[in-house]
Amino acid sequence: MESSIIGFSRGDASAQTFKAVNPLNNLSIDVNYAMASEEEVDEACRLASGASLEMAQFSGSKKAEFLRELADGIDGIVEELVPVMTAETGLPEPRVRAETGRTSGQLRMFAKLVEAGHWVDARIDRAQPDRQPLPKPDLRAMLRPVGPVAVFCASNFPLAFSVAGGDSASAWAAGCPVIVKAHHAHPGTALLVGNVVVATLKKCNWPEGAFSLLFGEGRTVGQSLVKNKSIKAVGFTGSRSGGRALFDLANAREEPIPVFAEMSSVNPIFILPGMKPEGIDGFSTGLAGSATLGVGQFCTNPGIVFHPAGEFGEQLKSAYVEKMKNVDAGVMLHQGICDSYNQGVQKLTSCEGVTVEYRFNNSAEGEGSRAGPCVLSTSAKEFIADPAMMDEVFGPSTLLVAYNDLGQLLEVVSTMEGQLTASVFGVQEDLKNDQGLVDHLETIAGRILFNQFPTGVEVCESVVHGGPYPATTDGRSTSVGTGAILRFARPVCYQGFPDEWLPDELKEGNPLGLQRCES
Ligand code: NAP
Repeated sequence: MESSIIGFSRGDASAQTFKAVNPLNNLSIDVNYAMASEEEVDEACRLASGASLEMAQFSGSKKAEFLRELADGIDGIVEELVPVMTAETGLPEPRVRAETGRTSGQLRMFAKLVEAGHWVDARIDRAQPDRQPLPKPDLRAMLRPVGPVAVFCASNFPLAFSVAGGDSASAWAAGCPVIVKAHHAHPGTALLVGNVVVATLKKCNWPEGAFSLLFGEGRTVGQSLVKNKSIKAVGFTGSRSGGRALFDLANAREEPIPVFAEMSSVNPIFILPGMKPEGIDGFSTGLAGSATLGVGQFCTNPGIVFHPAGEFGEQLKSAYVEKMKNVDAGVMLHQGICDSYNQGVQKLTSCEGVTVEYRFNNSAEGEGSRAGPCVLSTSAKEFIADPAMMDEVFGPSTLLVAYNDLGQLLEVVSTMEGQLTASVFGVQEDLKNDQGLVDHLETIAGRILFNQFPTGVEVCESVVHGGPYPATTDGRSTSVGTGAILRFARPVCYQGFPDEWLPDELKEGNPLGLQRCES
């Protein structure tokens, strides 16, 4: 029997238990995980609160040391991760290895960021005692950690957005303790990484409470965590209903706290009139690859494609269907996701004006949580009339929507919800004649792409993985890239303090050599 990690101890192993299920055959994996009790949630929060002040004083180099050690530790367990994670998620071995690398890479990226130190956005206004009519005081501001952060593991990134993934890495980098709520689908993967986190904390002399890992249901353990007064922010990737529930809960607290939930996006693609019929084959190949990558279980999966109506549209439909026919069914992450994919396709199919162009033969999908691709089509007029067509279908399905002219395309965009990405395909001339389409896309999406598919998300300085609701609950944020750290920091201004008291980032002599905004 396995149990939660509460600080440096293990939780009670005699509690109510659950098992993970292998989506390859839908059989339970024979390891019991004890769900955290209310007392264990409280204890994890108490420890995190206790660690918070000490961690807030950590220098960039101390945080960088921990993040790099942790990265090495995670790379070091890849052979253990492969059998556990493939059994819990159905993801193939190469994906496990690649995601391990992405996870350790993210940790090293944040190590570099905090070591350089510029991220704190130091601002200095020197005193002007002789200013008339009133003297100006000395004011100095920088970003400081918000305090303990609750992180919900994502089903579709069991490493890169789970225990030591992007949310946790950015919170630790900011100087915040992290309490992780494991996803029910991959507890063994979570525990393997959690053990490495604890060992690394001890090695780097970080305080107990800088990390805890809780097993248990979202509606009980997860909600208790978010309601706990010690928690000051939440990171989440998952369903719109789950993210919204946590957002509402956090806002109903006596002290509301920010929730950074990344939830739902159809990542529209807009083919502009400049694309020639010769481009259809290459586009269809790229689209099929993007829409079915990882059985369509990426947040940036392009689910809806708008294309010119007429002969071009008919050629595109048949070319794309041919490409999708070559894609086999794949194992989805868990049966719940597989069921909601099938329900989502069913719902779209029953919308007025939607035609099924291709649907993988359900009976051939076989055992386990397998699902295959699907291509549907409709017109922009029907799409505008039925908002249900805009809902995310999490899996390898594409809705092709034929539009008559740019005016109609702009009407479509004005009805669209917030998105993580929006992609435009065409020639440069299209951008000059787009009647403001791209300007509109900027208002609804976090990342806009030209002649590129959105699925690959580069982890770097400039990437934005966020967007207006319901893509996220806070369109001012990104959950990928160095900008993710800003979610877990807030500005604090120091007025009139003597130089030796000030943080190094704000001292007069600039001992860290930071780029600062000074006057
Ligand atoms: P989920 O059901 O939202 O679960 C994510 C986490 O949130 C789990 O730990 C879950 O707890 C918890 N949770 C869910 N509802 C909650 C609530 N009302 N209160 C408190 N905690 C709650 O997401 P999922 O299992 O990853 O996938 C389900 C669906 O989410 C997919 O079919 C897809 O539609 C969507 N999804 C979207 C993205 C995206 O990036 N756009 C990514 C992943 C999933 P439990 O462990 O108890 O379930």
